[in-house]
Amino acid sequence: MRIGFIGLGNMGGPMAANLAKAGHRVAGYDVAPAGVARLAMAGGEGAASIAAAVAGAELVLTMLPAGAEVRAVYDGAGGVLAAAEAGALLIDCSTIDVATARAVAEGAARRGFDMLDAPVSGGVAGAAGATLTFMVGGSEAGFGRAEPVLRATGKTIIHAGPAGNGQAAKICNNLMLGISMIAVSEAFGLADRLGLERQKLYDISAKSSGQCWSLTSYCPAPGPVPAAPSNRDYAPGFTAVMMLKDLKLARDAAADTGASSPLGAEAARLYQRLAEAGLGAKDFSVMFRFLADGLASASRSS
Ligand code: NAD
Repeated sequence: MRIGFIGLGNMGGPMAANLAKAGHRVAGYDVAPAGVARLAMAGGEGAASIAAAVAGAELVLTMLPAGAEVRAVYDGAGGVLAAAEAGALLIDCSTIDVATARAVAEGAARRGFDMLDAPVSGGVAGAAGATLTFMVGGSEAGFGRAEPVLRATGKTIIHAGPAGNGQAAKICNNLMLGISMIAVSEAFGLADRLGLERQKLYDISAKSSGQCWSLTSYCPAPGPVPAAPSNRDYAPGFTAVMMLKDLKLARDAAADTGASSPLGAEAARLYQRLAEAGLGAKDFSVMFRFLADGLASASRSS
């Protein structure tokens, strides 16, 4: 199948390469020439513009930083909606706010396109290893067309409902993750102060009611989970600024809908302070160090 791919960064680059490896003809464009060059080296075709990437494509995928870029790439002059072939299926995999996802999908529908929002979980390693989880919003028919193609870059592909529901699932999942990471960080900080060995707390809580992904797959205190970023000076992984972005999306969505989310709001404030303390480019599990070093209280009083 001919695929146009826009946004060849940390996630989009390996996703496009995996689609090419699966035998699809992938033409890719990014404002940064390095991404285009990497795709050409990985078996795809570099394109000089959005229009060139989507020419002749039956499917268009985008993987962009945030809502503003998604609007620009779809709605702008020479953008996807102006340049894509009639009948092409459009899939945005970026993590953006639900309102923008629904607005862009409505704009696409007015031009006769079926569009899906399909944000992912699994990070750069999932993109490289083709093990991403896709949460998809949009029509049943569009999901049916997309699913076999997304299989080349993902393992779990779930239809979450109509347009915007993929983003809703992503925001709710990362709300849980952000809060649980702070909870595990606080508990290990307290255990240190109480003289309880980290490994003992891990062994007990991994088999008790405190068990969660932030503990057993990604323990933010160095030691118990050897593969976790906490054992390599919090090299990402998933950066703290990306977690902050997602917690702000959840906070804004809660405000828009009247949902109560006091811990989500506090989690966003803590990650904001962590970023202001210069830790934003570290893995988001650096929350343990931020709390243990007393930086949260220091930045609150400053
Ligand atoms: P990135 O910044 O590495 O990649 C985004 C790419 O989009 C860049 O190469 C940039 O040059 C390009 N771009 C920006 N504006 C453009 C435009 N107008 N036209 C063409 N290209 C343009 O970001 P990433 O890590 O690949 O993340 C992409 C999305 O995936 C984000 O929404 C992020 O929240 C989400 N996400 C990231 C991760 C992760 O671990 N990195 C995990 C899950 C979801």
